[in-house]
Amino acid sequence: MAQKCYRSELIALFGNPVDENATVVIQEAAFAARGLNYRYITTKVLPEDLETAVKSLKALNMKGANVTIPHKVEILKYLDHISDTAALMGAVNTIYVKDGETYGENTDGMGFITSVLGAGVEPLGKRAVILGAGGAARAMTVELAKAGVKHITIVNRTEAKGKALAALLNEKTPAKTEYAPWKGTYPIPEDADIVVNATSVGMYPDPGRPDIDYATLAPGMTVCDGVHNPRRTPFLDEAAKRGCKTLEGFGMLVNQGAVGFKLWTGLDAPVEVMIEALEREFA
Ligand code: NAP
Repeated sequence: MAQKCYRSELIALFGNPVDENATVVIQEAAFAARGLNYRYITTKVLPEDLETAVKSLKALNMKGANVTIPHKVEILKYLDHISDTAALMGAVNTIYVKDGETYGENTDGMGFITSVLGAGVEPLGKRAVILGAGGAARAMTVELAKAGVKHITIVNRTEAKGKALAALLNEKTPAKTEYAPWKGTYPIPEDADIVVNATSVGMYPDPGRPDIDYATLAPGMTVCDGVHNPRRTPFLDEAAKRGCKTLEGFGMLVNQGAVGFKLWTGLDAPVEVMIEALEREFA
């Protein structure tokens, strides 16, 4: 009889506040479905303890971690390696440990672009309008640019942040990018192909929707929300009413988790199992 192994492979989540983060549900369901002796542990990490937390990944021979608020930027300086994409975004949300060294990756944008491609939307040569210029906007726009989007408009309330993201994309990617101020109700340009809400507007408990002129949404546009809770947002409902194809932030969330699963286990993620687990959790 083979010797039984009582040690589990460990993945952590580092964040604060982190108590209400449901990622553990998705990952543990995926580990169980693949018959893996892996555990996902949600931990509260204060900024002053972040370096020690990263060192603990090596000390405990862990497989990796997810990183969330407020550590996604700060974590870069404690890692041995950072992917080109994560370096470009200036943020890491996933760490994996290989041969005793830590590698930083950003799977938020990958989750988003997987959703876009999975819905049969081809970004090559398209024009995108992004509402917001925070971490999610950064991740989504870098991946859109990598996928061949030719023009990006960044619409953001705070001018400095919007201009900084537009400058980054112009400098580091082939996508021609402009900043548009967000003063009052924003009309979506009629030549837009892909429209993305990358703001936190509409995220639970905020019942609102971004301040755009919804009458300017047209059939033929693909409208995507980064917000994943609630799964169906007023923003997407308005877009669907006007004949747009809509993509939920829920899909992006599951897909970014699937990329992490593969980095830690080397196996393809059971995406359907992950979706069902999250649906049950939010039901
Ligand atoms: P963040 O870095 O704090 O950025 C927030 C953005 O929202 C900023 O651009 C901010 O504009 C804008 N904003 C906030 N309130 C606004 C308002 N009332 N009107 C207009 N703009 C407003 O946050 P983040 O990390 O990018 O996250 C943004 C959203 O994406 C959150 O809802 C998050 O849950 C979601 N997200 C989803 C996934 C997923 O997998 N589905 C992954 C990552 C993030 P200012 O610059 O003017 O403040």
